[in-house]
Amino acid sequence: MQKIPTFRKGGIHPDDKKVLSNRQAIERLPVPAELIIPLSQHIGAPALPLKQKGDRVEAGEKIGQGASFISADIHSPVNGTVTALNKVTLANSVVSDAFVITPDTENPMGIWEERPYEAFSAAELQKIVKDLGIVGAGGATFPTHIKLTVPRGKTVDALVVNGVECEPYLTADHRLMLEHSEMVVRGVMLVARMTNPKKIIIGVENNKKDAIVALRKVIAEHDFPIVVTPLKVKYPQGDEKQLLKATIKREIPSGKLPLDVGAVVLNVATAFAIYEAVAYNKPLIERIVTVSGEAIATKRNLRVLIGTKVADLLAYAGLAEEAETYIAGGPMMGFAFYDDQTPIIKGTSGILAFTEEAHKQAPVSPCISCGRCIAACPMGLQPTKLYRLIDHRQYSEAMATNLMDCKECGCCAFVCPAHLPLVHAMKLGKRLGRK
Ligand code: SF4
Ligand code: SF4
Repeated sequence: MQKIPTFRKGGIHPDDKKVLSNRQAIERLPVPAELIIPLSQHIGAPALPLKQKGDRVEAGEKIGQGASFISADIHSPVNGTVTALNKVTLANSVVSDAFVITPDTENPMGIWEERPYEAFSAAELQKIVKDLGIVGAGGATFPTHIKLTVPRGKTVDALVVNGVECEPYLTADHRLMLEHSEMVVRGVMLVARMTNPKKIIIGVENNKKDAIVALRKVIAEHDFPIVVTPLKVKYPQGDEKQLLKATIKREIPSGKLPLDVGAVVLNVATAFAIYEAVAYNKPLIERIVTVSGEAIATKRNLRVLIGTKVADLLAYAGLAEEAETYIAGGPMMGFAFYDDQTPIIKGTSGILAFTEEAHKQAPVSPCISCGRCIAACPMGLQPTKLYRLIDHRQYSEAMATNLMDCKECGCCAFVCPAHLPLVHAMKLGKRLGRK
């Protein structure tokens, strides 16, 4: 029997909790009464506002202009009116300027008609990706047009598409691959036209067998040169370093990028957004979000407009019990937040709500030098040593011990029997070590 690949160093197997929502077909959340559209929804400089209070906006209209090389345009998800330009605190604690938009009561949604796109050149496709504000939908929110512009002199050996979704609870990518396989695969082929790879791989963890079958069916029907590679379930395989090790056996050296080892890595939800942008001229104005966690009455996968408040998702899904904590993204690498008026942004893959009981922190005790954190670290770091250095404020020594290679994946904290706040320490050490 053929061995199912994965990355070798470190990693963990948390209870994935995907059964809570992986059979819930994607539903569209009704248009909310108000949207909050931040100008900072991506890595890089915030977009510059193009509208003022009182202005009319149309669905798909550009309302924020990318402000620098690493930035992205912002578009209105609806026909409506700008009622304010306020400050908003995002789930990741970033404070951003944001448009408040009241959608029209009649016909708030845009109409997106298919257009012929086969004749577009690679440069034209890249311009569409830039102009329609596509960023990494897996959570990284790096502006995609930069990733897809391969510098002169570099070649792409492999386009590796990330369908791993290894974070517990999250099932949005799973449902997307299952229900919209054709659009995901066509999006991947568009990316291939822009990057000209020698091979194309979609990596999917083996707990999504139905999605693997669905993708392979579409690929076979069109005879596309794409291989779907099932991967052994292991966290954090969705990180591009681990994904490249699992799929093409290449290691990204410290401080380098996938392109330095001949690879472009892109999430399945980003491929889907690219297909909608190219085939329908539709900007990134909505996305699929998993709503799950023990406090949610009916766990769901919802298609929501960017700018929808978390409170609107929670009202639709219903709270079974009072929520103590919300997390945007997955429980391992997501951001805990407390304000349900926080909006969904382009990188929000999930909203999780937990009861006090489910989110109870175990008491912290001294390190017993068991070495479990070292065995679990996929980056080959020594979390126990880094923790000690940071705890003793020896930040430059921690930096010299490869602290910046830490991906904040949480594997070390997950296995630590002393329940030490290892990830918190890594984040603090990086921030103070950079000064
Ligand atoms: S959080 Fe950092 S130190 Fe801990 S396991 Fe992940 S990469 Fe290693
Ligand atoms: S897992 Fe926790 S207790 Fe064990 S060595 Fe690492 S920090 Fe210490």
